[in-house]
Amino acid sequence: MSAELKDKVALVTGGAAGIGRAICEALACQGASVAVVDVNDREGEACVAALQSTGCDAVYLHCDVSKEGEVKAMVEALIQRFGRLDLACNNAAVSRGSGPIHQFSREVFDQTLELCLTNTWLCMKYEIDAMLAQGGGAIVNISSNASLRGQAFNTAYASAKGGVNILTKSASVEYANKGIRINAVSPGVIRTPGLEKYFEEQPKMAEQLRKVAPMQRLGEPSEIAEAVAFLLSDRASFITGQLLSVDGGGAVRG
Ligand code: NAP
Repeated sequence: MSAELKDKVALVTGGAAGIGRAICEALACQGASVAVVDVNDREGEACVAALQSTGCDAVYLHCDVSKEGEVKAMVEALIQRFGRLDLACNNAAVSRGSGPIHQFSREVFDQTLELCLTNTWLCMKYEIDAMLAQGGGAIVNISSNASLRGQAFNTAYASAKGGVNILTKSASVEYANKGIRINAVSPGVIRTPGLEKYFEEQPKMAEQLRKVAPMQRLGEPSEIAEAVAFLLSDRASFITGQLLSVDGGGAVRG
Protein backbone atom coordinates (compact mmCIF):
# COMPACT_ATOMS: atom_id res chain seq x y z
CA MET A 1 0.00 0.00 0.00
CA SER A 2 1.33 3.49 -0.87
CA ALA A 3 0.38 6.59 1.11
CA GLU A 4 -0.31 8.89 -1.83
CA LEU A 5 -4.02 9.25 -0.99
CA LYS A 6 -3.64 9.06 2.80
CA ASP A 7 -6.16 11.35 4.55
CA LYS A 8 -8.30 11.51 1.39
CA VAL A 9 -11.91 10.38 1.45
CA ALA A 10 -13.23 8.88 -1.79
CA LEU A 11 -16.56 7.66 -3.08
CA VAL A 12 -17.07 5.33 -6.04
CA THR A 13 -20.53 4.78 -7.50
CA GLY A 14 -21.18 1.29 -8.84
CA GLY A 15 -18.28 0.34 -6.57
CA ALA A 16 -19.50 -3.16 -5.78
CA ALA A 17 -18.52 -4.84 -9.04
CA GLY A 18 -16.52 -4.64 -12.25
CA ILE A 19 -14.66 -1.43 -13.01
CA GLY A 20 -16.02 0.32 -9.90
CA ARG A 21 -14.73 -2.38 -7.60
CA ALA A 22 -11.26 -2.19 -9.16
CA ILE A 23 -11.32 1.59 -8.65
CA CYS A 24 -12.21 1.11 -4.96
CA GLU A 25 -9.27 -1.31 -4.65
CA ALA A 26 -6.83 1.05 -6.38
CA LEU A 27 -7.83 4.04 -4.21
CA ALA A 28 -7.67 1.93 -1.03
CA CYS A 29 -4.27 0.63 -2.07
CA GLN A 30 -3.04 4.24 -2.21
CA GLY A 31 -4.29 4.93 1.31
CA ALA A 32 -7.70 6.56 0.75
CA SER A 33 -10.76 5.92 2.88
CA VAL A 34 -13.42 4.59 0.53
CA ALA A 35 -17.23 4.70 0.37
CA VAL A 36 -18.53 1.95 -1.90
CA VAL A 37 -21.82 3.26 -3.34
CA ASP A 38 -24.09 0.76 -5.07
CA VAL A 39 -27.52 -0.87 -5.25
CA ASN A 40 -26.11 -4.39 -5.03
CA ASP A 41 -25.95 -4.71 -1.23
CA ARG A 42 -24.48 -8.22 -1.14
CA GLU A 43 -21.58 -7.40 -3.50
CA GLY A 44 -21.16 -3.96 -1.91
CA GLU A 45 -20.77 -5.40 1.59
CA ALA A 46 -18.38 -8.06 0.23
CA CYS A 47 -16.28 -5.37 -1.42
CA VAL A 48 -16.13 -3.38 1.83
CA ALA A 49 -15.10 -6.48 3.81
CA ALA A 50 -12.29 -7.12 1.32
CA LEU A 51 -11.10 -3.49 1.50
CA GLN A 52 -11.20 -3.53 5.31
CA SER A 53 -9.11 -6.70 5.37
CA THR A 54 -6.31 -4.69 3.72
CA GLY A 55 -6.52 -1.99 6.42
CA CYS A 56 -8.71 0.46 4.46
CA ASP A 57 -11.34 2.51 6.30
CA ALA A 58 -14.25 1.55 4.04
CA VAL A 59 -18.02 1.81 4.26
CA TYR A 60 -20.91 0.62 2.10
CA LEU A 61 -23.63 3.13 1.21
CA HIS A 62 -26.74 1.86 -0.57
CA CYS A 63 -27.82 4.41 -3.19
CA ASP A 64 -29.59 4.32 -6.54
CA VAL A 65 -27.70 7.18 -8.17
CA SER A 66 -30.52 7.90 -10.61
CA LYS A 67 -32.71 9.08 -7.67
CA GLU A 68 -31.97 12.59 -6.40
CA GLY A 69 -33.20 12.00 -2.85
CA GLU A 70 -30.93 8.96 -2.50
CA VAL A 71 -27.89 10.78 -3.90
CA LYS A 72 -28.40 13.71 -1.50
CA ALA A 73 -28.80 11.33 1.45
CA MET A 74 -25.74 9.31 0.37
CA VAL A 75 -23.46 12.37 0.31
CA GLU A 76 -24.87 13.53 3.67
CA ALA A 77 -24.23 10.08 5.18
CA LEU A 78 -20.68 10.10 3.83
CA ILE A 79 -19.97 13.55 5.31
CA GLN A 80 -21.42 12.44 8.63
CA ARG A 81 -19.19 9.32 8.64
CA PHE A 82 -15.90 10.81 7.33
CA GLY A 83 -16.32 14.60 7.78
CA ARG A 84 -15.28 15.38 4.19
CA LEU A 85 -15.29 14.27 0.54
CA ASP A 86 -12.09 14.71 -1.49
CA LEU A 87 -12.38 12.32 -4.44
CA ALA A 88 -15.35 10.99 -6.40
CA CYS A 89 -15.62 8.57 -9.28
CA ASN A 90 -19.04 8.53 -10.97
CA ASN A 91 -18.92 5.08 -12.50
CA ALA A 92 -22.38 3.49 -12.10
CA ALA A 93 -24.29 3.16 -15.36
CA VAL A 94 -26.39 0.60 -17.17
CA SER A 95 -26.69 -0.01 -20.90
CA ARG A 96 -30.14 -1.27 -21.89
CA GLY A 97 -31.21 -2.64 -25.26
CA SER A 98 -29.92 -2.14 -28.76
CA GLY A 99 -31.45 -1.74 -32.20
CA PRO A 100 -32.28 0.80 -34.87
CA ILE A 101 -33.95 4.00 -33.70
CA HIS A 102 -37.24 3.40 -35.53
CA GLN A 103 -37.69 0.18 -33.54
CA PHE A 104 -36.27 1.47 -30.23
CA SER A 105 -38.65 2.23 -27.37
CA ARG A 106 -38.93 5.76 -25.99
CA GLU A 107 -39.13 4.27 -22.50
CA VAL A 108 -35.74 2.52 -22.82
CA PHE A 109 -34.21 5.66 -24.34
CA ASP A 110 -35.39 7.75 -21.37
CA GLN A 111 -34.20 5.12 -18.86
CA THR A 112 -30.78 5.00 -20.49
CA LEU A 113 -30.36 8.77 -20.21
CA GLU A 114 -31.35 8.58 -16.53
CA LEU A 115 -29.04 5.65 -15.77
CA CYS A 116 -26.01 7.00 -17.67
CA LEU A 117 -26.22 10.82 -17.82
CA THR A 118 -28.73 12.24 -15.33
CA ASN A 119 -27.22 10.09 -12.56
CA THR A 120 -23.77 11.54 -13.26
CA TRP A 121 -25.11 15.10 -13.14
CA LEU A 122 -26.97 14.36 -9.89
CA CYS A 123 -23.88 12.91 -8.24
CA MET A 124 -21.75 15.86 -9.36
CA LYS A 125 -24.33 18.31 -7.99
CA TYR A 126 -24.06 16.97 -4.43
CA GLU A 127 -20.36 16.00 -4.57
CA ILE A 128 -19.36 19.48 -5.77
CA ASP A 129 -21.45 21.11 -3.06
CA ALA A 130 -19.56 19.08 -0.43
CA MET A 131 -16.17 19.78 -2.06
CA LEU A 132 -16.81 23.53 -2.27
CA ALA A 133 -17.53 23.59 1.46
CA GLN A 134 -14.03 22.31 2.18
CA GLY A 135 -12.14 24.16 -0.60
CA GLY A 136 -11.58 21.55 -3.32
CA GLY A 137 -11.53 18.01 -4.62
CA ALA A 138 -11.28 15.90 -7.75
CA ILE A 139 -13.90 14.04 -9.80
CA VAL A 140 -13.60 11.43 -12.55
CA ASN A 141 -16.66 10.47 -14.58
CA ILE A 142 -16.69 7.15 -16.42
CA SER A 143 -17.66 7.59 -20.06
CA SER A 144 -17.36 5.04 -22.88
CA ASN A 145 -15.69 4.80 -26.27
CA ALA A 146 -19.24 4.48 -27.63
CA SER A 147 -19.37 8.27 -27.14
CA LEU A 148 -16.39 9.11 -29.34
CA ARG A 149 -17.61 8.47 -32.89
CA GLY A 150 -21.07 7.23 -31.96
CA GLN A 151 -22.21 3.61 -32.00
CA ALA A 152 -24.79 2.38 -34.48
CA PHE A 153 -27.70 0.45 -32.91
CA ASN A 154 -26.64 1.67 -29.46
CA THR A 155 -27.73 5.28 -29.91
CA ALA A 156 -29.24 5.89 -26.47
CA TYR A 157 -26.14 4.76 -24.57
CA ALA A 158 -23.73 6.47 -27.00
CA SER A 159 -25.70 9.74 -26.72
CA ALA A 160 -25.86 9.54 -22.94
CA LYS A 161 -22.11 8.98 -22.68
CA GLY A 162 -21.50 11.79 -25.18
CA GLY A 163 -23.47 13.92 -22.72
CA VAL A 164 -21.15 12.76 -19.91
CA ASN A 165 -18.16 14.04 -21.91
CA ILE A 166 -19.63 17.51 -22.44
CA LEU A 167 -20.90 17.62 -18.86
CA THR A 168 -17.34 16.87 -17.70
CA LYS A 169 -15.75 19.56 -19.87
CA SER A 170 -18.37 22.21 -19.05
CA ALA A 171 -18.22 21.57 -15.30
CA SER A 172 -14.41 21.52 -15.30
CA VAL A 173 -14.43 25.17 -16.43
CA GLU A 174 -17.09 26.16 -13.89
CA TYR A 175 -15.00 24.87 -10.97
CA ALA A 176 -11.39 25.17 -12.22
CA ASN A 177 -10.69 28.21 -10.06
CA LYS A 178 -12.44 26.72 -7.06
CA GLY A 179 -9.98 23.89 -6.50
CA ILE A 180 -12.05 21.13 -8.12
CA ARG A 181 -10.62 19.18 -11.07
CA ILE A 182 -13.10 17.22 -13.20
CA ASN A 183 -11.99 14.67 -15.82
CA ALA A 184 -13.42 11.59 -17.54
CA VAL A 185 -12.06 8.18 -18.44
CA SER A 186 -13.40 6.39 -21.49
CA PRO A 187 -13.05 2.60 -21.23
CA GLY A 188 -12.82 0.41 -24.29
CA VAL A 189 -14.26 -3.09 -23.93
CA ILE A 190 -13.53 -4.28 -20.39
CA ARG A 191 -14.10 -7.72 -18.87
CA THR A 192 -16.77 -7.12 -16.17
CA PRO A 193 -20.00 -8.80 -14.96
CA GLY A 194 -21.94 -6.03 -16.75
CA LEU A 195 -20.17 -6.76 -20.03
CA GLU A 196 -20.76 -10.53 -19.74
CA LYS A 197 -24.48 -9.87 -19.19
CA TYR A 198 -24.60 -7.49 -22.16
CA PHE A 199 -22.81 -10.04 -24.38
CA GLU A 200 -25.40 -12.69 -23.42
CA GLU A 201 -28.30 -10.34 -24.23
CA GLN A 202 -26.77 -8.89 -27.41
CA PRO A 203 -24.72 -11.64 -29.13
CA LYS A 204 -24.36 -9.60 -32.34
CA MET A 205 -22.81 -6.66 -30.47
CA ALA A 206 -20.55 -9.13 -28.60
CA GLU A 207 -19.07 -10.37 -31.86
CA GLN A 208 -18.18 -6.81 -32.94
CA LEU A 209 -16.96 -5.59 -29.56
CA ARG A 210 -14.57 -8.46 -28.80
CA LYS A 211 -12.46 -7.45 -31.81
CA VAL A 212 -12.58 -3.69 -31.46
CA ALA A 213 -9.19 -3.01 -29.78
CA PRO A 214 -6.06 -3.06 -31.96
CA MET A 215 -4.41 -4.83 -29.01
CA GLN A 216 -6.92 -7.62 -29.77
CA ARG A 217 -7.99 -8.36 -26.25
CA LEU A 218 -10.52 -7.21 -23.68
CA GLY A 219 -9.27 -4.76 -21.05
CA GLU A 220 -9.20 -5.56 -17.35
CA PRO A 221 -10.99 -3.42 -14.73
CA SER A 222 -7.65 -2.76 -12.98
CA GLU A 223 -6.36 -1.08 -16.16
CA ILE A 224 -9.19 1.48 -15.94
CA ALA A 225 -8.66 1.88 -12.20
CA GLU A 226 -5.01 2.90 -12.68
CA ALA A 227 -6.03 5.81 -14.92
CA VAL A 228 -8.78 6.91 -12.53
CA ALA A 229 -6.46 6.78 -9.51
CA PHE A 230 -3.92 8.90 -11.40
CA LEU A 231 -6.47 11.54 -12.44
CA LEU A 232 -7.82 11.74 -8.88
CA SER A 233 -4.32 12.13 -7.40
CA ASP A 234 -2.22 15.28 -7.06
CA ARG A 235 0.05 13.86 -9.78
CA ALA A 236 -2.66 15.14 -12.15
CA SER A 237 -2.80 18.55 -10.44
CA PHE A 238 -2.82 20.60 -13.71
CA ILE A 239 -5.18 18.28 -15.62
CA THR A 240 -8.87 19.15 -15.85
CA GLY A 241 -11.62 18.85 -18.46
CA GLN A 242 -9.91 15.92 -20.20
CA LEU A 243 -11.27 12.65 -21.57
CA LEU A 244 -8.73 9.82 -21.40
CA SER A 245 -9.44 6.66 -23.42
CA VAL A 246 -8.12 3.46 -21.87
CA ASP A 247 -8.90 1.00 -24.60
CA GLY A 248 -6.00 -0.90 -26.16
CA GLY A 249 -6.00 1.62 -29.02
CA GLY A 250 -9.74 1.38 -29.82
CA ALA A 251 -10.26 5.16 -30.02
CA VAL A 252 -7.57 5.74 -32.65
CA ARG A 253 -8.32 2.74 -34.83
CA GLY A 254 -8.68 3.85 -38.45
P1 NAP B 1 -21.05 -3.62 -13.99
O1 NAP B 1 -20.14 -4.78 -14.05
O2 NAP B 1 -22.49 -3.80 -14.41
O3 NAP B 1 -21.03 -3.02 -12.51
C1 NAP B 1 -21.77 -1.85 -12.25
C2 NAP B 1 -22.17 -1.78 -10.78
O4 NAP B 1 -22.99 -0.60 -10.64
C3 NAP B 1 -23.04 -2.97 -10.33
O5 NAP B 1 -22.72 -3.31 -9.01
C4 NAP B 1 -24.44 -2.39 -10.44
O6 NAP B 1 -25.37 -3.05 -9.60
C5 NAP B 1 -24.22 -0.96 -10.00
N1 NAP B 1 -25.26 -0.04 -10.43
C6 NAP B 1 -25.98 -0.08 -11.58
N2 NAP B 1 -26.87 0.93 -11.60
C7 NAP B 1 -26.73 1.61 -10.44
C8 NAP B 1 -27.37 2.73 -9.88
N3 NAP B 1 -28.38 3.38 -10.53
N4 NAP B 1 -26.98 3.18 -8.68
C9 NAP B 1 -25.97 2.56 -8.01
N5 NAP B 1 -25.33 1.47 -8.48
C10 NAP B 1 -25.70 1.01 -9.69
O7 NAP B 1 -20.52 -2.39 -14.88
P2 NAP B 1 -19.08 -2.16 -15.56
O8 NAP B 1 -19.00 -2.95 -16.80
O9 NAP B 1 -18.02 -2.28 -14.53
O10 NAP B 1 -19.21 -0.64 -16.02
C11 NAP B 1 -18.87 0.44 -15.15
C12 NAP B 1 -18.87 1.73 -15.95
O11 NAP B 1 -17.98 1.63 -17.07
C13 NAP B 1 -20.22 2.13 -16.55
O12 NAP B 1 -20.34 3.54 -16.53
C14 NAP B 1 -20.13 1.66 -17.98
O13 NAP B 1 -20.99 2.36 -18.85
C15 NAP B 1 -18.68 1.97 -18.26
N6 NAP B 1 -18.12 1.21 -19.38
C16 NAP B 1 -17.95 -0.13 -19.29
C17 NAP B 1 -17.39 -0.82 -20.36
C18 NAP B 1 -17.14 -2.30 -20.33
O14 NAP B 1 -16.71 -2.85 -21.36
N7 NAP B 1 -17.36 -3.00 -19.22
C19 NAP B 1 -17.05 -0.13 -21.54
C20 NAP B 1 -17.24 1.25 -21.59
C21 NAP B 1 -17.78 1.92 -20.50
P3 NAP B 1 -26.25 -4.30 -10.22
O15 NAP B 1 -25.29 -5.41 -10.45
O16 NAP B 1 -27.25 -4.61 -9.15
O17 NAP B 1 -26.86 -3.77 -11.49
